[in-house]
Amino acid sequence: MKLNICHLYPDLLNLYGDQGNIICMKKRLEWRHVDVIVTLCGVGDPLNASEYDLYFIGGGQDFEQEVLLDDLKGAKAQAVKSAIEDGKTMLAICGGYQMLGHYYKTWDGKQMDYLGALDFYTEGRKERMIGNYVYSLTDEPSVKVVGFENHSGKTYLGNGVTPMGNVLKGNGNNGEDGTEGARYKNVFATYSHGALLPKNPKVCDLILKTALEYKYGQVELVSLDDTVEKTAHDAMIEKLL
Ligand code: GLN
Repeated sequence: MKLNICHLYPDLLNLYGDQGNIICMKKRLEWRHVDVIVTLCGVGDPLNASEYDLYFIGGGQDFEQEVLLDDLKGAKAQAVKSAIEDGKTMLAICGGYQMLGHYYKTWDGKQMDYLGALDFYTEGRKERMIGNYVYSLTDEPSVKVVGFENHSGKTYLGNGVTPMGNVLKGNGNNGEDGTEGARYKNVFATYSHGALLPKNPKVCDLILKTALEYKYGQVELVSLDDTVEKTAHDAMIEKLL
């Protein structure tokens, strides 16, 4: 088996070690003898949606989100939207997550219209939501996800999407309604930096399984020795809950 991963805007969107998610996915595939190719796709690079099985887009500050807006809304917009509608797997973090929605209005009133690939919008507040946090995973409610959030944007989900999880500690989407992130088709979108996947191997495997099954039909992932990952995860749970 083989997965082609596309890392969107790796140089502009890579806050708090977001790239660690790529390393984690790659290693967990290789340990299971699945071939992986990671292609970096930045501003000005062509994006052929049919070439990739899994997309990753990290977080950035308002500034970087503005810098790449024209590129994203230009030639890449249709490719990203059709990849999502076709059911390709995608992990989007924080700023990358916000860019899949309808718009992001910064706390000082600047509005950036985004892809509208998922039904939600984001509005910034001067007071940021910062810290380690925990949420339960909608796909597997017994799974507790630990992450680090730092955003001014408050995201409000529309009817077409479900949350990726329910906040147990921290803010999540907006600090008001208890939701965290968004799920739509095979898109996993979350505010978790940190990097998310090394500390949450179950989430990593869920994403990899989703991408592999889209391509190959039913797949059983061989279990790995996650002692170290579990220790890191459980230490944060103990600290936060
Ligand atoms: N610029 C966005 C916000 O502050 C996203 C920040 C991030 O990706 N950490 O809401």
